[in-house]
Amino acid sequence: MPGGIEQTVHTDAADLTEQGGQAEAMGLTRLSGQTGTTGSAELTPRTDAAEPPEQSVQLGIPGTDAGTVEAERSEPEPAPHSRYLHPPYPAGKQAAPDPSPVPGKVAYLTFDDGPSIQTEPILAILREYGIKATFFVNGHDTEEAKSLYRQIDKEGHRLGNHTYSHDYAKIYQSEDAFMEDVRRLERLLEETVGHSTDILRFPGGSNTRLGRKKGQTWIMPRLVKRVEEEGFQYFDWNVSSTDAAQAVQPKSDIVSSVLSLAKDRKKIIVLMHDVNVKTTTVEALPEVICGLKEQGFRFDTLDKQAFTTQFLK
Ligand SMILES: [Zn+2]
Repeated sequence: MPGGIEQTVHTDAADLTEQGGQAEAMGLTRLSGQTGTTGSAELTPRTDAAEPPEQSVQLGIPGTDAGTVEAERSEPEPAPHSRYLHPPYPAGKQAAPDPSPVPGKVAYLTFDDGPSIQTEPILAILREYGIKATFFVNGHDTEEAKSLYRQIDKEGHRLGNHTYSHDYAKIYQSEDAFMEDVRRLERLLEETVGHSTDILRFPGGSNTRLGRKKGQTWIMPRLVKRVEEEGFQYFDWNVSSTDAAQAVQPKSDIVSSVLSLAKDRKKIIVLMHDVNVKTTTVEALPEVICGLKEQGFRFDTLDKQAFTTQFLK
């Protein structure tokens, strides 16, 4: 996929620790395929991961040079995404059968801020493990993005509203400004996938202080009531993957954060990010899934009636 999805890279990390003040300096860096400040390699779409190797179609053509050469070259070619799959298990060994879920234990994996070039690899991993997740998306009107909204929906995952712009200064100006941005994404989803969504996550979380102007009263207590009146259920999180703590958080930190925070909980909403630079989130995902399964979790998507965690309540 061409790098047509321009994203606002921001971080909800400051809110995780409820120290929202510093995040403004970190946030709102405009990244595109050409202008990435964290290294253009991170932003290059990984078409190799998304498609089977081209040369494999050449296999089995005996007696041609091309066939022989291609066969030699492609022999060790891994299956798509296999570099992300089953890393906890030694090569060549089958994964152990899934442990039975413990009654009442549920994990809701959530991916914020997409779609991005990471969406497809994420979807492939979820497909591989037979797991459904929730994507709190922003508004992108490129054809690539539209096809990803459709793919998320078609593969049985849940779309959630994370505002169109994710622009703190704009959306947290007033209740009406927030709802207008939410409705704009709603229209895009209706046009694209044929339906909207009644679940929502506030950019920065429901206790965010981002976008607040000096002297202005804090909008969030009023805003959470307003979105409920408008028919939405909103979801914060109780397990952070910490993948927004820096542009590229080490994979091992993501895995250990999720697994340690999940340990003593029965129902977890796991915060992760589906943004171009978040390569390690994708790399961590199989271990996160396997680790949660070992703790006895089953996986589900959020809906209006699902367990919710809300910072302001
Ligand atoms: Zn976000």
